[in-house]
Amino acid sequence: MASSFTHQGITRDHHELGFSTRSIHLGNGTDAETGAIRRPITLANAYSLPDDPSDINWSSSDTNLYTRNGHPNQRYLEAKIANLEGSEDAVVLASGVAALSATFTTVLNRGDHAIFSDTTYIAAYRLLEQILPEKYGIETSIVDSSDPGNVAAQIRPNTRLIHIETPANPTLKVSDIAAIAKLTHQADHEILLSVDNTFNTPFNVRPLDLGADIVIESLTKYINGHGDALGGSIATRKELTEQIRFTAQVNYGGIISPFNAWLINRGSVTLPLRMRQHNASAQAIAEHLQAHPAVRFVAYPGLPSHPHHQVAASQLSRPDSGFGGVLSFGLHTDHAGHNRFVSKLNIVTSAVSLGHDESLIVFLGEDDERQYLYPEVFHQGFLRFAVGLEDTDDLINDLDQAIENADI
Ligand SMILES: *Cc1c(COP(=O)(O)O)cnc(C)c1O
Repeated sequence: MASSFTHQGITRDHHELGFSTRSIHLGNGTDAETGAIRRPITLANAYSLPDDPSDINWSSSDTNLYTRNGHPNQRYLEAKIANLEGSEDAVVLASGVAALSATFTTVLNRGDHAIFSDTTYIAAYRLLEQILPEKYGIETSIVDSSDPGNVAAQIRPNTRLIHIETPANPTLKVSDIAAIAKLTHQADHEILLSVDNTFNTPFNVRPLDLGADIVIESLTKYINGHGDALGGSIATRKELTEQIRFTAQVNYGGIISPFNAWLINRGSVTLPLRMRQHNASAQAIAEHLQAHPAVRFVAYPGLPSHPHHQVAASQLSRPDSGFGGVLSFGLHTDHAGHNRFVSKLNIVTSAVSLGHDESLIVFLGEDDERQYLYPEVFHQGFLRFAVGLEDTDDLINDLDQAIENADI
């Protein structure tokens, strides 16, 4: 199928070209019918069958059959994601959470054990802490994976999966992917390491190069980049993607819509340009906030004061990689003061999500049920700030005036 992804001779197997060239050309191609140099959105639910369809496997995902079994816009995007992550194959599903649940439910069987980071996206926490153990008899252990020793201490004969999120949402804890991968390789049975790489994207860090087996991205965030489509990806070897397609895509139904796959493919063309700006702006803002007398703490892996700065720096995949666009911080004020500060912001929008063009901020209060898992500084309430693509000075001025006008 690789030849159908060819555009001016560039295929998913071209790894020697630069990241930007691959972000632009992979997933695009010339439309055979019209000659258009943009691939169309194919919205059909079904594809024509041979006169005698009795040989068709209705659960297959590699022929055009029914859109839930796989569709062209999904496959174009998968070719790009696999290439950018450096994997043999990739599956693109309806959301980041669909990608997480697809991985867990495909890899883990009743009686298996999984280890996961103490700070993960809330749905990963719910699945691994509650839903999979209670409904499907899967054992799980939650650990502070920023210390690989904690992970090593939990490995059991039935451990099948280690799932880490790094940098973690919202504490920005960083885990040492290479050190944890080494633990899995030293074990005397097969353990898979999956990494939620949403905060870094493959522009900053490529977990497979560091020894991980599976990389998960919420495409909703930086890879789409424009805050207008949900999607998720799993990049890994073909043997696993085939199982994931059979289980999670065809039979659980987590397929992405053709329109969202098309939007994400288009948004991802500018991923490298946008990540350079997110990285630079977040770094400047983190440094500015850290020096501000009204700021109680800043958590950003690009700050030398971050406890895992050295590990984070050692993971960067390119000379122009950075530490991502998300930081968390707290002000010298109370619950009401943080909310007053947010109400005074003019450019930064109060909303969840991250990786959009516009800057987004969300207050995470003392009532968060997972607070006991966060470092102490997070216990008085804090703000998660997803730095957007506005001019850095405008953002800094907006933060400063809001601090002043909120009387903090
Ligand atoms: C948003 C997010 C997810 C979930 O992605 P959706 O596309 O919203 O389902 C998973 N992991 C991380 C780190 C995220 O930030």
